[in-house]
Amino acid sequence: MLDSSMAYFGKSVPVESFLDDISREAEKSGFTVETLVEAADLPLLALSRRGPAGAPSVYLSAGIHGDEPAGSLALLELLETDLSEEVTWHICPMLNPGGAKTNSRNSPANVDLNRDYLALTQPEVKAHAKWLGTCDEFTLSICLHEDWEANGFYLYELNPHPERSVASEIVRAVEPVCPVDHSERIDGHAARNGVIIPNKKDLQRDDWPEALYLFTHHTGIGYTLETPSGFPLRTRVEAHVAGCLAAVRALLAHKAEGID
Ligand SMILES: [Zn+2]
Repeated sequence: MLDSSMAYFGKSVPVESFLDDISREAEKSGFTVETLVEAADLPLLALSRRGPAGAPSVYLSAGIHGDEPAGSLALLELLETDLSEEVTWHICPMLNPGGAKTNSRNSPANVDLNRDYLALTQPEVKAHAKWLGTCDEFTLSICLHEDWEANGFYLYELNPHPERSVASEIVRAVEPVCPVDHSERIDGHAARNGVIIPNKKDLQRDDWPEALYLFTHHTGIGYTLETPSGFPLRTRVEAHVAGCLAAVRALLAHKAEGID
């Protein structure tokens, strides 16, 4: 599987295969698979599986930028391996399938979908926001991205409850598989040990990304993970897999300790 996943999003392997594979894996693992809208004749998929009563709810998404394949591939690997039964899952594995098909950041309408979550003008974003409205509030959400200018892995944290942070656990888990950017400034923000905590001013913008919409309406804690696009795809996929698994492990550990 690891080798064939490397071929997705290449010139010869269609995104359709990825969407078929992830639907099949999801159904095999007991997920409900929904098509939220068709974009460029490709389904925008949402996958859900309920955990036991009182289980924390985790949302994962990837592929809102069509030229950032590692997140989508990581979600396929997570579905193939070990997603905890102790969690209610909501997963959007590819939010911009039309962009992925042409390896473009923007949608086929040439819009950066990750700037449309306040205006909600695009069919993909509208359908996604409508579906989010049908889900229970998420305990934790993670949006998977890649950065062409990054020197290493880093993340953004939106979290009003520092005692519930799982940022250091994510970074610790990623570090053995992918270098972490330990700069004091990353992407124009102050950073510490690969973690950027946006300030109030950063959040006052009218071109909302998905993460800000989630944080405003749907999630207790939100993370955006960024892998460095210049590194091998395998490294970036492993970084996202390790980061997501560590976040959920830490969330369940906090719950067991009564920190929730
Ligand atoms: Zn991105």
